Amino acid sequence: MQFHFHLPSDHTVDGSAAPMEVHFVHAAAEGDLAVIGVLMESGEADPAVRSLREAIPSGGESAGALAAFDARPLLPEGGSHYRYPGSLTTPPCSEIVSWVVMAESTTVSQEQIDAFAALYPMNARPVQPLEERTIELRQ
Ligand SMILES: [Zn+2]
Repeated sequence: MQFHFHLPSDHTVDGSAAPMEVHFVHAAAEGDLAVIGVLMESGEADPAVRSLREAIPSGGESAGALAAFDARPLLPEGGSHYRYPGSLTTPPCSEIVSWVVMAESTTVSQEQIDAFAALYPMNARPVQPLEERTIELRQ
């Protein structure tokens, strides 16, 4: 359906958030959602983020800003991922999401993080308790 970014990451690893996270939102016909999350650490610049910033310099949403957009740089090379049942991270926070969080992170440059932070200083949901849920690692 769409993808978007959070700063800092919505997910944490051993209690630590990454500077950013990208979410790829998928919807089934019945309304259930699956979201793939990729943590983005500070490092090399991401060419996909660069393209997006050039196409949508003031932020917001755009359905057609990019004629040819290659999202592959936003995904890690490895396919290992964590799965757990969860919710939307923005209101109404409905508990209808099958979460897939990639085990490998990607990188964005500090300059890209700073540029995103200038538009969206903080748009992550506080980490929720795991409670009865289990997180499954799939290799
Ligand atoms: Zn999100």
